[in-house]
Amino acid sequence: MLNKREDDEDHEVRDVLLVEDSLIDAQLIRRLLRRVTSSYYRVTHVRTLNDAVLSAEDLVPDVILADLNLPDSRGTQTVTSLQTSYPDIPLVIVSAWEDEAISLRSVKAGAQDYLVKGHIDGANLHRVIRYAIERKRTELELVRLAHFDQLTSLPNRTLLRERVDHALARAIRAGSGVATLILDMDRFKEINDMLGHEIGDKLLVEAGRRIRACVRDQDTVARLGGDEFAVILEGVSEAREVLPVIERIIDSLREVAIIDGHEINSSTSVGIAMYPENGSDLSELLRAADLAMYQAKASGRGGYRFFADAMQEEAQSRHALEWALRRAVERGEFELVYQPQLCLRTGTVIGVEALLRWMNPTRGLLTPYHFIAGLEEFGLINEVGEWVLQSACEQLRKWQAMHFAPMRIAVNVSAQQFEDPMLIDKIRNALKETKLPPELLELELTESCLMSDPAQASALLREIRDIGVRIAIDDFGTGYSSLSYLHEFPLNALKIDKNFVQSVEANDRGGPISKMIIGLGQNLGLEVIAEGVETEGQLQYMREHGCDVAQGFLYARPESPEDLGPWLQANQRVSDTYVRSIPIKKRADDTGT
Ligand code: C2E
Ligand code: CA
Ligand code: CA
Repeated sequence: MLNKREDDEDHEVRDVLLVEDSLIDAQLIRRLLRRVTSSYYRVTHVRTLNDAVLSAEDLVPDVILADLNLPDSRGTQTVTSLQTSYPDIPLVIVSAWEDEAISLRSVKAGAQDYLVKGHIDGANLHRVIRYAIERKRTELELVRLAHFDQLTSLPNRTLLRERVDHALARAIRAGSGVATLILDMDRFKEINDMLGHEIGDKLLVEAGRRIRACVRDQDTVARLGGDEFAVILEGVSEAREVLPVIERIIDSLREVAIIDGHEINSSTSVGIAMYPENGSDLSELLRAADLAMYQAKASGRGGYRFFADAMQEEAQSRHALEWALRRAVERGEFELVYQPQLCLRTGTVIGVEALLRWMNPTRGLLTPYHFIAGLEEFGLINEVGEWVLQSACEQLRKWQAMHFAPMRIAVNVSAQQFEDPMLIDKIRNALKETKLPPELLELELTESCLMSDPAQASALLREIRDIGVRIAIDDFGTGYSSLSYLHEFPLNALKIDKNFVQSVEANDRGGPISKMIIGLGQNLGLEVIAEGVETEGQLQYMREHGCDVAQGFLYARPESPEDLGPWLQANQRVSDTYVRSIPIKKRADDTGT
């Protein structure tokens, strides 16, 4: 084969496959091609579709010129067959003038262009061929962009979907199974943050390469996005059959990668779902594999889990949790800790928030993250919530009896409690039994709990307000409060979610959102409380923008009553420590309390 001089496009040597049953027409085209002086065309001529298809074995032409009507094929059938045999080669149809309609249809069917016999000369033949090649290249590039991940050149989600559809169809025919693996690199974000995106990207490319090297050619390795990959293994009849492949992949990814001189250690967690047992299409299989992958991550990194095992583990751990929580309720293993809230204008403690803890006999003191959802799921939250209300009120009375300056108590109420028809009675009861003035109790409700049925919520809030109890919206800004309802609800306070508070110094949305909430509070005449204040900078920001109250680790962590008592005594006025000469924005409703 002659060397192609691709750099000098006009003098390129081009291989043409000419599919034409008429010898006269073939001669004519050969002659026309020879007349083109700027390129050299080397022609291979066959006279039937069958010969053209057979030649695909050892022929890689630059372009195919084909008559539509051949002894063994007619019309667009010719186009379809040639495209199947030569998927990457541009195709130009050469047909009689009366076939122009069919020629147009051929272009719709995928041919790049067509020529009409009798109207061909050397110049237009040459031009059509050049454009056809160019057009095909663009088409292939578009297909590639739509189906492959730019970074790793692996198939993307779209192509994965196509491949899986085919794999499942083959599995049904063969009566075999398909394994879907989701691989997620552990700590990739850390590596990316520490060494930079460029190295992170190279690590992903290397990971893709290693995964690819662990599987057979016919298996699919795709990048789902970020540091997540998927592998499709075909022809497996049993889950355990894929174990060696999984272990090979995990071992290979655990080996040190040297990228731009950095030695990078990483590991990958794998979740596996089997077709047909764990799902009947790609979405279901990916969901199952994803769940299994999370279970793998949860039980230590660099491991794998099959969906079936993961489900069983989860069911078992839920069962164990339910049993432990029921026992905890019976035995009274819950405790309350308290976190002070300080007025930003005067520096005095104006209240404490009660926060629930579980003293688990084996795991020690647990925060709500580990058990609140469980209490709700197993229908225990109302009982525990009633105890919280009662105990919190009692504790405040004890502190009052010790002659601490007046302060109030804030109690969290979850959505399920808010739906409890007995809630009002439980509140009344707690106040009655502890003889606590109602205005010293503040209930913290979340936006979502009020917004699911605003009309009903509004009615219940009015009942609570009529008792004299205060109402605050917790985690404000994270839900989806419709502002029109805020006017209607009888509220006393908005609590800015700690995620916003903690990002006021960074240049992101925390600052603007906090400012907006403070402004909203001022317009509606509501107190604004910043929760999760950890730094002087955050405190200063809140003071400068006119926030009323703050709570957070900067002042005190949530503490047991025994530990918080002395702190409260010592910090009844913390103005010396925390109230500096920071200019404070004057508020419209500032009554100088
Ligand atoms: P929450 O009501 O938003 O409570 C604030 C959470 O932020 C508490 O977590 C508190 O310990 C924590 N926190 C306070 N200051 C800071 C700080 O400066 N920095 C950081 N990073 N965190 C701070 P905790 O105690 O783990 O409670 C978590 C959630 O559990 C609460 O969020 C609340 O929604 C719920 N919860 C707590 N107690 C109860 C309860 O008695 N009943 C109900 N239904 N839910 C409760
Ligand atoms: Ca709260
Ligand atoms: Ca909160």
